[in-house]
Amino acid sequence: MKRRQFLGMAAAAAACAYSRALAAAQNEWGGPVLDIHSHLRQGLDANMTHMQGCGVTDAVLLARAASSEQIKAIQAKYPKRFVWAATADITKPDAVEALTKAVKDGAQGLGEIKFHVEADGPELRRMYALAAELNVPILVHFQEVQHFEGEGVFSTGFKRFEAMLKAYPKTKFIGHADAFWAYVSADYANEAAYPSGPIKRGGLTDKLLGDYANLYGDLSANSGNNALSRDPEFTADFLARHQNKLVFGSDCSCQDGHGGGISQANNPAAARLSSKCVARETLTVLKQHAKPEVFRKLTWENGRDLFRIG
Ligand SMILES: [Zn+2]
Ligand SMILES: [Zn+2]
Repeated sequence: MKRRQFLGMAAAAAACAYSRALAAAQNEWGGPVLDIHSHLRQGLDANMTHMQGCGVTDAVLLARAASSEQIKAIQAKYPKRFVWAATADITKPDAVEALTKAVKDGAQGLGEIKFHVEADGPELRRMYALAAELNVPILVHFQEVQHFEGEGVFSTGFKRFEAMLKAYPKTKFIGHADAFWAYVSADYANEAAYPSGPIKRGGLTDKLLGDYANLYGDLSANSGNNALSRDPEFTADFLARHQNKLVFGSDCSCQDGHGGGISQANNPAAARLSSKCVARETLTVLKQHAKPEVFRKLTWENGRDLFRIG
C-alpha cells in the first residue's frame, strides 16, 4: 500500500471514530441528542465546538438560503451530524423561489422564519403552503412583546393561529419563541415576554398541541426553558402528554456549551439564562421531568422523524 493511500484510510478511520455513536456514548445524556434550533456560526468548527461542550450529537443548522456552500463544507467535515433548515426574507417576492432552490439543494426544513408579519397574513400563508408542497417542516418564531425598543414583533396574532392549523393540514408547523410558550398558560394576555409563576391549565398552546397532529413545539431558547421551569408540577405532565409533539432545541449562542461568551445578547428579559448554556439547562430540566423513554423521544426521535434524519 502506498503511503498516501494509507494516510487517506487513517483519516477516514478518524472521521468514523468521530461519529454520532461515539459522541452519544461519551455524553452525559445517555444517547444521541439532536438540537433542532442551532443557528449557523462562522467557521467550520464553531457549531461542533458548542455541541461537544453540551453533549449534543446532531444539529439542525438554521441558515439563509444563500449559505448552502458553508453548510456543505461543515457537512463534509462532520458527516451525518448536521442537517440544514433554510430561511429567506419572506416579505420579498423571490422567497418562494429561493427556498424551493434551497430544499432542492439539500435543506430539510424551512426556518427560522422570523419576520415582522402577521401569523395569518399573506407572507406566512405562502410559506405554510410551500412547506407542505416541499414536504418539509416549517419553524416559526412567534413574538408579540419587544425585548428592546425598536426590535419589533414577529408572526403576530397567535390567538388566531388555530385557523392556520386547520387551513394547512399537510403543513408540519414547529412553534417557537415567546408567544408560543407564553400561551401555554390560560391566563396569558401579552403582558410580558416571559411570564413567570404557576401555569393556569388549559392554555392555548397546550390545547393546540393536543388537538392538531400538524403542530409541534420547539423547546428552545429562554421561552421554552421558562415554560418548563416556572411550574414544576405542570412540566412532567405536559411532557408526558405531548411526548410525540415536543422537540428539543437550544437556540443557544454561548460559545463552549458551558455558558461562555455572550449567551443572551440584546435580551435583558432573558437574563435568567445569562452565563448559562441554554442547551445544557433545558436538557437538565427534561432529564428531571421526563421518563427515560420520553426523554429519548424529546431529544432525539421526534426531531429525527420530523427532519427525516438518516
Ligand atoms: Zn427565534
Ligand atoms: Zn450553549
